[in-house]
Amino acid sequence: MDDTTQWLGDQIDVDEQIARASSGGTVVGEPGKQPAPGGDEWEACRTDCDEDELLVALRPGLPRPPDVMSGKWGQVICYRPEFGDPRDEPLLPQLEHAARHDPARVLREVAANRRRLERHAPQMMVGYDSDEDDPSTYVLGCPACQTTVVREGDWPCEEIRDVVASYVDRPGCRDEWKP
Ligand SMILES: [Zn+2]
Repeated sequence: MDDTTQWLGDQIDVDEQIARASSGGTVVGEPGKQPAPGGDEWEACRTDCDEDELLVALRPGLPRPPDVMSGKWGQVICYRPEFGDPRDEPLLPQLEHAARHDPARVLREVAANRRRLERHAPQMMVGYDSDEDDPSTYVLGCPACQTTVVREGDWPCEEIRDVVASYVDRPGCRDEWKP
């Protein structure tokens, strides 16, 4: 496996591990277990008392504990009381951001990025390198989207560079991989 694919796969694995760890045990009724293959769905809300909360939704079909016969919600993940320190900024924007990047979304993105890596797996292709005396050679390229002459440096393809874009701040990212 080439360095780019290996490194990207490692970053995606970490995303999955963190998403699953953040889901673990948060759904009432399944203590300590992974709540759902697709991950928990979170929602941020402000209560009638101006309290900000980040909640785990109990999705339809998930087991509910006996004392929760109805209602929508599982466990409060994060909470800011109405009479908190007035120097604190309201938490709702941060909570809404977290809810939009909840484990369920991260796990969907993990699956989509793994499919992208499969579709754009590089291989040695006939192309040209920098050796002017023997320009025809085999160069690493993406057969899915590099259909013309492949040159050194063409890999990663644009699709994979756009996946790299999400991870440019992670250790090990090389400048030549960036979009
Ligand atoms: Zn490609």
